[in-house]
Amino acid sequence: MANSVFDELVGQEHVIEILRGAVAASRTGKVSHEITHAWIFTGPPGSGRSVAAGAFAQALICPNYGCGTCNECQSAKSHGHPDVEIVRTEGLSIKVEDIRALLTRVAWAPSMAGCRIVVLEDADRLTESAANALLKAIEEPGARTIWLLCAPTLHDVLPTIRSRCRHLQLRTPGLDAITKVLVTRNGISPGMADLIARVSQGHIGRANLLARSETMRSNRKKIMCLPLQLESLPAAFHAAKFLVDLATAEANASSEKHDEMEIEKLQVAYGKGATGRGMALGGAKAVRELEKELKSRTTRIIRDSIDGALLDIATFFRDVMIMQAGNPNLVINTDMRDVMERYAAKSSSHSTIYKIAAIMEARESLARNAAPLVTCEALMCRLAKQ
Ligand SMILES: [Zn+2]
Repeated sequence: MANSVFDELVGQEHVIEILRGAVAASRTGKVSHEITHAWIFTGPPGSGRSVAAGAFAQALICPNYGCGTCNECQSAKSHGHPDVEIVRTEGLSIKVEDIRALLTRVAWAPSMAGCRIVVLEDADRLTESAANALLKAIEEPGARTIWLLCAPTLHDVLPTIRSRCRHLQLRTPGLDAITKVLVTRNGISPGMADLIARVSQGHIGRANLLARSETMRSNRKKIMCLPLQLESLPAAFHAAKFLVDLATAEANASSEKHDEMEIEKLQVAYGKGATGRGMALGGAKAVRELEKELKSRTTRIIRDSIDGALLDIATFFRDVMIMQAGNPNLVINTDMRDVMERYAAKSSSHSTIYKIAAIMEARESLARNAAPLVTCEALMCRLAKQ
């Protein structure tokens, strides 16, 4: 079979079938406008909702139904297609100003394709006023824009918006589907692919990262060993600091260079290197605003990274609990079987359940913007208890 943009989607055959059908129907013009002009993709983190929406956008404008190799497909993917806009927020929310600016950009008639496509990757981050501004655009009859929204669940989007969208639910891809992709696409050994598929728990992005990056694999191992190092309170505080430092280093590594480039770009736009008058007139303010925005993005990456680490640690205790319940075949972290067996023998299932609950509470606190270090310190102290 020829390559297709839908090959990127792992374990989502049911969704692919619907999307292929919609692409084919859009060419015959049989599908009514009301049904196809707004879609919402939901699914657990890592199931590939933005990948699905992006592939659909490519397939809609590609003369070959989404070959992935033609100019249309490539430019749509790399943000270079005039009729495809991919909105990927880096901040904690999408504000009404952002949506208004977006609506101004898409108000023009499509330049090449028969329609304009907007992928809104984090529709769950729309503020209420932003969502209402978007709603007006979605409701507008005769507009030639196709809206592809992505969110974890339908409840994350205003009812007025979701009732106007066709809904596609992505599944958590299965262990076999992920293992197969890692072996065939990334060329890693079946044994390593199986371990990565297990520990990434259906999160394709994470599986890809672990498959590609030795640093990510070594960081995961360090994080997974933290529960074994909590013999004393000082050790618990040390573990919390280690976790937050690691997340911060990861976040900084991914954003530092990117940030510098964005600030530089903005300074040039305001006439950096010229008389400086542009900078004085508004450039400095714009740069300050951008810096604030970038800081909020780094904060979000740090929180996401800590959350990911806490989920990893939760799988440690989940495995311990599985062992204590006498089902050792169901463990996720097969590379740590021996140490987890010893841990399981030393502690009670009651304390294991308490520890899993403590991790989930810490994640909730972080989601409510609690200070990361203090939250992690309190958590590690609870995990240190026998
Ligand atoms: Zn193509």
